[in-house]
Amino acid sequence: MSEKSLRIIVTGLVQGVGFRPFVYRIASKFSLKGWVQNTNENVIIQVTGNPVRINSFVISLKTEAPPAAVIRDISTEETDNVQYDSFIIKESNDISEEITEISPDIAVCSDCLADMDISGSRLDYAFVNCTNCGPRFTIIEDLPYDREKTTMSHFAMCRECRREYENVTDRRFHAQPVACSNCGPHYEMHAAGKMISDKTEDILTGVAACIEKGGIVLIKGLGGMHLACDAFSEEAADRLRSLKNRDGKPFAIMFRDLETIRQYAETDKQEEVSLLSWRRPIVLLKKKKSSGPQIAGNISSGLNLSGVMLPYLPFHYLLFRKLKTPAIVMTSGNFSNEPIIMDNEDALSQFTGCVDLIVLHNREIFNRTDDSVVRILSGKERIFRRSRGYVPAPIDTALNNDGILAFGAELTNTFCAGKKQNAYLSQHIGDLQSVETTRFYEETMSRFIKMFRIKPSLVAVDMHPMYISTRKGLTYKGLPVIEVQHHHAHIASCMAENKLDEKVIGVAFDGTGYGTEGNTWGSEFMICDLNDFERISHFDYIALPGGDSASEEPWRIAISYLNKVYGKSFLELNLPLLKEVKSEKIRLLLHMIDRNINCPLTSGAGRLFDCVASLLGLVQTATFQAEGPMKLESLVDGISEENYQFDTGESICFDKTIKGIVDDMLNGIGKVTIATKFHNTIILTIFDTVNAIRLKSGINKVVLSGGVFQNKYLSERTVDLLIKNNFEVFTHSTVPANDGGIALGQLAVASKRRELLCV
Ligand SMILES: [Zn+2]
Ligand SMILES: [Zn+2]
Repeated sequence: MSEKSLRIIVTGLVQGVGFRPFVYRIASKFSLKGWVQNTNENVIIQVTGNPVRINSFVISLKTEAPPAAVIRDISTEETDNVQYDSFIIKESNDISEEITEISPDIAVCSDCLADMDISGSRLDYAFVNCTNCGPRFTIIEDLPYDREKTTMSHFAMCRECRREYENVTDRRFHAQPVACSNCGPHYEMHAAGKMISDKTEDILTGVAACIEKGGIVLIKGLGGMHLACDAFSEEAADRLRSLKNRDGKPFAIMFRDLETIRQYAETDKQEEVSLLSWRRPIVLLKKKKSSGPQIAGNISSGLNLSGVMLPYLPFHYLLFRKLKTPAIVMTSGNFSNEPIIMDNEDALSQFTGCVDLIVLHNREIFNRTDDSVVRILSGKERIFRRSRGYVPAPIDTALNNDGILAFGAELTNTFCAGKKQNAYLSQHIGDLQSVETTRFYEETMSRFIKMFRIKPSLVAVDMHPMYISTRKGLTYKGLPVIEVQHHHAHIASCMAENKLDEKVIGVAFDGTGYGTEGNTWGSEFMICDLNDFERISHFDYIALPGGDSASEEPWRIAISYLNKVYGKSFLELNLPLLKEVKSEKIRLLLHMIDRNINCPLTSGAGRLFDCVASLLGLVQTATFQAEGPMKLESLVDGISEENYQFDTGESICFDKTIKGIVDDMLNGIGKVTIATKFHNTIILTIFDTVNAIRLKSGINKVVLSGGVFQNKYLSERTVDLLIKNNFEVFTHSTVPANDGGIALGQLAVASKRRELLCV
């Protein structure tokens, strides 16, 4: 049979994931000759050979690609017959202003772990990696992805590493961060302001001993630093908490292995898949009482959930070999409200004296990433914090996003940059309330623009005039700006993720967002498309004495609700809240409500959850975001199918719900039952309202978004009920339902409005 020549263009995430060596391997397998080349736009393959074998080759490209590769498109074109002597990997070629995708960081693979046991230059070497694993996004400074454009450029490869790097049959062929103990980065340990060792063995022994004595260690990792301590020590966790500045946020725990996780948490199949995935996120799991020693209660007190992850760096594995404890706290190395620390100098200057040991390495982190957080809802992974392992994979929205820069929300901020159909959602930035976080935000934005060759031409921002993100967007290079209402952006984000471009019923539940009339919204039922929305219903407004600061003090909203429902007579009720909060504070609050002093109106669903959490005595002053709602959800057992009364109409009134809860409390009904009945009430509210909207509008597609839908019980039951009643339901999976997903929605709305204007 005569030979033919074919040019194949592969687009998607095909760089830095071992794709070219894979192409080389299958080309050899099918005896094809030609070449493969990375460009900044795609991977180009030129092959000559037997036509049947070329067919098999193209099929293998799709079916046998390396695990971290994401092939979005393969196009083929027959070319003039060209003869080659062999199959080669050509040098990368920067051919245009286009870009290819950048791989997220990949957890160390089993082959590399095995290499750490073989004597030689990788024995116990904590930076071992190959084309299938290792750092990627965190070390990339620019594209195309080659060593000189990463923070590994400072390390000259030794002869042995170079041999592997250049050997097409080697697992490390063109593995850009390839390194060994002779030529690569290394760890060093500091104590009391002095470098005390740069020997891995000493460092591991020192860290293990320190942790076991109840000490705290700052450890540099992939995208930033971790603070680590023994997960079984209340004292160590307490000390860590005060060191991080009072923050009551739950700490994540790293377990030695899956077996140990199973002793301390309930896991199902999908949760284990997420735990073991190469992305290695923190997975929120239901706690389980262990027969053995107990995890310190103050790591996530009052919650039935625990944030759990498995080791993902060679260093983590090496450390667990030394540690007797099978679980350590691994929380972000930062002070509250500041970004995770990534520079050695910052680590030394800020943490010397605060922690017992500081373990650093000399491979620079270029792009900061936090650990990502996921939870399984309705059998599917949902991302709550999107960072390491997920970023910077683009989201294909089926819209023209080119040149749109969406600035995101204020808290849990991410931004989003558009390139053709793709939306590049940044890694989790954090709360834009500190100078450091704002600097991180601006720096990352300019890096995304450079890396992904974005030419900004249109800006999208939240409507809130006081958001730092909004103010930055309004003045950005004098570009035209589109303002997007917060909850419309939530729904648009979920629509974009699901490639919906039509009229839908949107339900956006969160804590707070700026409404078009200046009130605070957060329980929105809307009919909307990507361009615009019509608010159909919402929870009744309630005065929020103290404004934003009230969200940190759930008792304020509880008093406001009680006052609305009962008038001042609520003061006679025998409620724990009235004993837990000083009566002068309550009197002052009532005075504010009566005189309407600093009492903005809110309809935030999160505030109603706060109110119930306060009534039940779970939280009066929150120490982290959504503490009240999370503690309330933790009580739900799903046994009670009952619910409280409520009234629906143009807005939804919960006076009867509050009365029902108070009556139950006075009658000695348990908190678990009350919390469950309350959740059932909200689920019914959603169903009734959405059903009424369907009857009137004929729209059958329901889109759910907003942080409240991170509540497993609420989300799963709502979805089930809607599906049972023949609704088509759309939820988030690859983009956070919380404000971390807002930027994508802003971008989608801006794209749609631009398109309509052009028509
Ligand atoms: Zn590997
Ligand atoms: Zn080497």
